[in-house]
Amino acid sequence: MIAPGETIGILGGGQLGRMIAIAAARLGYRCHIYAPEPDSIAAEVSAAFTCAAWDDAEALAKFAADCAVVTYEFENVPVAPLAALGDVPLLPNTRALETAQDRLSEKRFVTELGGTPAPFVPVDSPEDLKAAIAAIGAPGILKTRRDGYDGKGQWRIMSPGDAEGLDLPVQALIYEGFVTFFAEFSVIVCRAANGEVRFYESALNVHEQGILATSTVPTPQEILWQIPEARALAAKVAEALDYVGVLTLEFFATENGPVFNEMAPRVHNSGHWTIEGALSCQFENHVRAICGLPLGDPGLVTRGAVMRNLIGDDAHDWAGILSDPANHLHLYGKAAARPGRKMGHVTRLVLD
Ligand code: AMP
Repeated sequence: MIAPGETIGILGGGQLGRMIAIAAARLGYRCHIYAPEPDSIAAEVSAAFTCAAWDDAEALAKFAADCAVVTYEFENVPVAPLAALGDVPLLPNTRALETAQDRLSEKRFVTELGGTPAPFVPVDSPEDLKAAIAAIGAPGILKTRRDGYDGKGQWRIMSPGDAEGLDLPVQALIYEGFVTFFAEFSVIVCRAANGEVRFYESALNVHEQGILATSTVPTPQEILWQIPEARALAAKVAEALDYVGVLTLEFFATENGPVFNEMAPRVHNSGHWTIEGALSCQFENHVRAICGLPLGDPGLVTRGAVMRNLIGDDAHDWAGILSDPANHLHLYGKAAARPGRKMGHVTRLVLD
């Protein structure tokens, strides 16, 4: 067990790191943030900050020397340089990172475990794309295998003609069949080192322009029947990876059951409602798991909750939001609002 008072290292300096650090501080841990960007909103609420490149072995080794355990809030951390962490445990492990960093390896891995993703084919050239569209059909979505997030690095192909003249990036791609779904939901599971798993209520997730807009719990009646299969897959993924911490799988709810979309080896935006809406939130349970403490109860505190992201520079009526006792406002302290940037969120608990 890593005792309160010790230091948790967090790779990545964004809002997820910030919320992990806040939960860790509540349990008496110090946090040390490692991020390449100098303006880290996670470092603002942490005891120490190393601002260095992902491949700076010396900085990573020095950072590790201050930490009892290291975790990450960002899944695109390059894996090879992490060898510089030496004997300090990295949880979740590098296998989880490697698997989730590449949409192709992620989909193959989940398929081997019995999950159902959209049909997919790797694409490395315009010829591959033609062949992929011929094999899978259109509509479909072409995605970069790595580094995509919030709908970035994606092209919708409505008909085979759309592939003509596409200015493809010089990187590995994947073509996926378009899934007809009636809802999107996520499974957030926390796994302890002893193999115990605990699931949060699955949120119904609504995306706007590829970015999560709202997450609502409890799970609506019409998708409840998909949850056992989706949870069983999440548990298999966690076990196969010997995963420790919070893991998220995103699904499309289809007439034929859950179709796997993607996984995130970390706490997730669709679990922000758990801060006020669950007995132990995703951030605290992640800290408990990586520190070897008993897991907390993920059960709902009230009849339900709706989390709404605050995105870009939309004007908000802060006084109005705060004057309603059902609302819980979280602002991440980001300096400048850019279109599509997540600035904060509001969780509205169902109190009546
Ligand atoms: P992703 O970054 O892969 O999660 O994609 C962002 C959003 O695009 C998803 O949440 C879906 O709303 C939509 N999307 C992605 N892949 C597919 C697909 N194969 N079929 C239908 N919609 C998709």
